[in-house]
Amino acid sequence: MTDTRHPGFLTPERHQRGEDAASIIYPVVSRRARGLSLGINLFPDSKHCTYNCPYCEVQPFSNPHARLSEGMIEAALREFFDKDWPAYAKSFALEDISISGNGEPTCSPFLEEALYAAAKVLSEQVSLDAKLFHVPIVLITNSTGFLSPQICELLHRFSQEARFEIWAKLDGGSSELHSILSRSNYAFDRIVGDIAHFAAITPVKIQTMICRDACSGRVLFDAERYCGALMSLIGQGARINAIQLYTTARPPAEPWIASIDDIEMAMLASIVRRCLPSEIRLECFGRSGELSIPNSGQEQWPK
Ligand code: SF4
Repeated sequence: MTDTRHPGFLTPERHQRGEDAASIIYPVVSRRARGLSLGINLFPDSKHCTYNCPYCEVQPFSNPHARLSEGMIEAALREFFDKDWPAYAKSFALEDISISGNGEPTCSPFLEEALYAAAKVLSEQVSLDAKLFHVPIVLITNSTGFLSPQICELLHRFSQEARFEIWAKLDGGSSELHSILSRSNYAFDRIVGDIAHFAAITPVKIQTMICRDACSGRVLFDAERYCGALMSLIGQGARINAIQLYTTARPPAEPWIASIDDIEMAMLASIVRRCLPSEIRLECFGRSGELSIPNSGQEQWPK
């Protein structure tokens, strides 16, 4: 899920009402992509996800007229680059093409088509502008797709054929917090095991939401057990490019979820930093943007 949208840009909310190819593509300024991210929304017709995260910014909706069909994604991408990109390019560098949108993209029957359409259109654009050579295609997933051998095979294969990054969600470090934050029946240990199994072959970036229960004040993050889960991943041979901790950037849909202030986010990131091998990059995004991570060694495990 991308965020920090530029007010003048298309947003997923507008796409939900769209009835043409434009509803599939949404350029956004993303703090976590550090620039302009071109999103591909595989669910323009309705939200479709295996999780029901309380901090999710996508509310259930229905727009049956916006249903995808074969060829639409490639056509929409090509239309964006032909018509809109020249204007955007005056102000922004393109940081990635991300596949996410209104749900979990590995649930979509159009995932493979979207990956290969993005690679094809991007390759055409690179031939026109070499600066786009470094633009990756990013899949933003909640990690439940790793339970499917067919999805894993597709992602492994595509990673050999394109500049491809996978940002995989891992919230909390225990069954209890995973259950609170995903509101699903997926077993936490199975998710961790399947991320490890997948990432032993194809590297991933781990994305982790840290937020607060506004009613009790409890921080919905258990740093010690989270670090244990990360060490378990690494111990099982997972190749982790980076860990990205973030809190909600805008008021969440559910009022009992609140963001974490920047000082506390940086402190929690510092705890995670100390447990990680130095070669694994750690990113931390607070309310105000990317945070520098202190290195005092004085941090305590959060209560
Ligand atoms: S995994 Fe993403 S799309 Fe699905 S409910 Fe959670 S935040 Fe929303």
